[in-house]
Amino acid sequence: MAVKDKDISLRLTPEKAFSEASIRKALHLSPSDEFVILRRSTDARRQDVYIDLLCRINPSSPVYKETVFRQADPSKGQVLIVGSGPAGLFAALKLLEHGLKPIVFERGKDVHSRRVDIAKISTEGVVDPSSNYSFGEGGAGTYSDGKLYTRSKKRGDNQGVLELFVQFGAPSSILYEAHPHIGTDKLPRIIENMRECILSHGGEIHFQSLVTDFLLSGNSVKGCVVKDLVTGSVTEFSGPVILAVGNAARDTFRMAHSLGVAMESKDLSMGVRIEHPQHLIDCIQYHNKNGRGLYLPPAEYNFAVQTSYNGIRRGVYSFCMCPGGFVVPAASDRSQCVVNGMSPSNRGGKFANSGLVVEFLSDGPEFEDPLSVVRYQEELEKKTFLAAGSSQKAPAQRVTDFLSDHLSSSLPSSSYTPGLTSCLLSEVLPPEISTPLKEGLSLIGQKMRGFITEESILIGTETRTSSPVRFLRDPLTLESTSHENLYPCGEGAGFAGGIVSSAIDGMRCASSILDKLLF
Ligand SMILES: Cc1cc2nc3c(=O)[nH]c(=O)nc-3n(C[C@H](O)[C@H](O)[C@H](O)COP(=O)(O)OP(=O)(O)OC[C@H]3O[C@@H](n4cnc5c(N)ncnc54)[C@H](O)[C@@H]3O)c2cc1C
Repeated sequence: MAVKDKDISLRLTPEKAFSEASIRKALHLSPSDEFVILRRSTDARRQDVYIDLLCRINPSSPVYKETVFRQADPSKGQVLIVGSGPAGLFAALKLLEHGLKPIVFERGKDVHSRRVDIAKISTEGVVDPSSNYSFGEGGAGTYSDGKLYTRSKKRGDNQGVLELFVQFGAPSSILYEAHPHIGTDKLPRIIENMRECILSHGGEIHFQSLVTDFLLSGNSVKGCVVKDLVTGSVTEFSGPVILAVGNAARDTFRMAHSLGVAMESKDLSMGVRIEHPQHLIDCIQYHNKNGRGLYLPPAEYNFAVQTSYNGIRRGVYSFCMCPGGFVVPAASDRSQCVVNGMSPSNRGGKFANSGLVVEFLSDGPEFEDPLSVVRYQEELEKKTFLAAGSSQKAPAQRVTDFLSDHLSSSLPSSSYTPGLTSCLLSEVLPPEISTPLKEGLSLIGQKMRGFITEESILIGTETRTSSPVRFLRDPLTLESTSHENLYPCGEGAGFAGGIVSSAIDGMRCASSILDKLLF
């Protein structure tokens, strides 16, 4: 009888790991045997690069389960969700698992209309304040790299989030890749599938609908006030509120603060994007002057070093590295210049980019005001915009010139399509960021030979690595400590960073409401 559910680890050359026939041979399978991959990672620590696989022979049950959604039952009540990013959408899906009706408000447009507005940022340098890389259906996660790994192991069910992504159209390889990613070309369709599921099960999604206020009875939130951004009309909705507005919703942070919602300023790393030719990164990371060859993926990197400024330790680290990707204009208002990165599913672009950021500590009396880091961010984004000649042509400098404080007389080609402005970045960035950045780059250059090169550029500025505020909430119920029936959620609330952890936080907030209303 064929052996069932046997797990076998393999270490193969990239070429052998590329072909199913070679894997089958290495597993000594007979023609009737089946196998699935449970885990796949690349080990490039030494000269010879290997692919490590964990395979299950003849699995007796499917390796992932599908979630069943129920039709919303209006008699059970409704839950208002502000924001359709990963936190908001996964909260809505969790409610529908139990038949509770979600009503989602999204200030931005649906994914298709949003794509047009995003293209205009590059072609015309025009940022629509309600439809951009931060705002619109799917939130900041839609036009992103779609990297789906999180450092957090504690916050709940990573696997559950990945399984839902697969259920809505992501490739099943995300379930076993050590560093799963979806790609910006595939994400919009997946988000549309989630929308269709929410609507077909009786939920509601309102686009171009800005939540401007909460309905309060004392310290209890009874609902919210929604402005239709097309007609200007204002409507009130009632129900508990999941506030999943992401890290760029500064007007909403201000509104919540003015109502006395408990929050504090939060540490936030800021810096620049660094971009290299992908081939160079492949050569460095795979220890091969010819690059990655036919069977290896575009190489990634990841580093963290310690520097100090004015006697205070400041970490400098890579953030959201995008192999084969693009640096994108991620501002959400007209007089800001902000950069971020994304890549398509095949990571086939010519460049590798990553955030290169410095820990920013919001301690000290100047950060006692909960909105103080918001203002710091705003000032830096405005200064960057001015350095860019009041445009989206982001300030940039060759890495070698940044280290020697010379203006770059020319800039190498870049994936950043709005264009670049040659600048002294040390005049754009405050010293508490630019000084550690210089020291950090020198240390990184010692660790990764070839990383500091004339061909690499720094593009300013990366200011939105997480939220500038943290809402205070009860650790068990996740309700605001100041307001009943308000659930600050996801990255904007300061409890998540990235797609997966925001989605998990959304599901946790929904579960807390389900516990209160149904069980
Ligand atoms: C270019 C780019 C690339 C990225 N790449 C990755 C990556 O590869 N992997 C990763 O894990 N993370 C990535 N991120 C970060 C990731 O997108 C966020 O961590 C995640 O989307 C946060 O989810 P969220 O639901 O908390 O908030 P968001 O996704 O920011 O969603 C919040 C939503 O709320 C809406 N909103 C705000 N205020 C209001 C209001 N008052 N009324 C109505 N609607 C409102 C906004 O329009 C927005 O759509 C990237 C971000 C960007 C910008």
